[in-house]
Amino acid sequence: MTDPTASASSISRTPQRRRRPGSHPAAKGRETEIGRKKRARRINRTLAAVFPDAHAELDFTNPLELLVATVLSAQTTDVRVNQVTPELFARYSTPAAYSSASQTDIEEIIRPTGFYRAKAANLIGLGQKLVADYGGAVPTALEDLVTLPGVGRKTAHVVRGNAFGKPGLTVDTHFQRLVHRLMLTEERDPVAIEHAIGALVEKKEWTMFSHRIIFHGRRICHARTPACGACPLAFDCPSFGAGPTDPVEAAARVTGPEREHILAFAETEKKQ
Ligand code: SF4
Repeated sequence: MTDPTASASSISRTPQRRRRPGSHPAAKGRETEIGRKKRARRINRTLAAVFPDAHAELDFTNPLELLVATVLSAQTTDVRVNQVTPELFARYSTPAAYSSASQTDIEEIIRPTGFYRAKAANLIGLGQKLVADYGGAVPTALEDLVTLPGVGRKTAHVVRGNAFGKPGLTVDTHFQRLVHRLMLTEERDPVAIEHAIGALVEKKEWTMFSHRIIFHGRRICHARTPACGACPLAFDCPSFGAGPTDPVEAAARVTGPEREHILAFAETEKKQ
């Protein structure tokens, strides 16, 4: 069956115009399911243009390294994880190495990431299970990954999406906050959010949609004071006005290495 949202929405991006705060149909509970799907896909295309190099911000070179880094990323920042993983990966390069590691040796290396005792125990248990049940390799199936110590659906999707090229929606706290602010779902449970957003966005886009949304949340749509007046999603956002709408005031709140590109984006789009 033909997707009714595909033809009209396959080329467009979010118009670089403004609505009055609170005037978006979704803010008034008047958005249809098809309208929401078209909006979600338009948001994805717009973010793809704004963040063409969105990617996992954890450093890794193989599935085991990404699995370990993602386990370490619980309750801390990717930057902090990236500070400890060079030494960790140099000393433990295989599941067998983790399986026979000393708990205190691992704790010493990963201490800056917090919760280091539990995380060290998980890494050793993870190595033991990979050796015992998966022939010393990281499995690709979601149902296998979630059997590993310290690995939930979020971590499993990160590994599948970024190390194995399988579609994976990463529903972390940033993603949850953003999809609620964009009013793409009212669900609160992470698995329910995953299914709701998965029904809106094309499956092949799931991994990159996660990265783009997280990039957007870190650089423009900050938790406390979003940069609404400089936001390329403003026309498609029912929460427009949650932060300053004045372009100059908002521009000062845009962060990250893409800042100049973000600020120039709206002007370029308006001319097209
Ligand atoms: S910055 Fe403002 S307009 Fe942009 S997505 Fe966030 S709340 Fe919406």
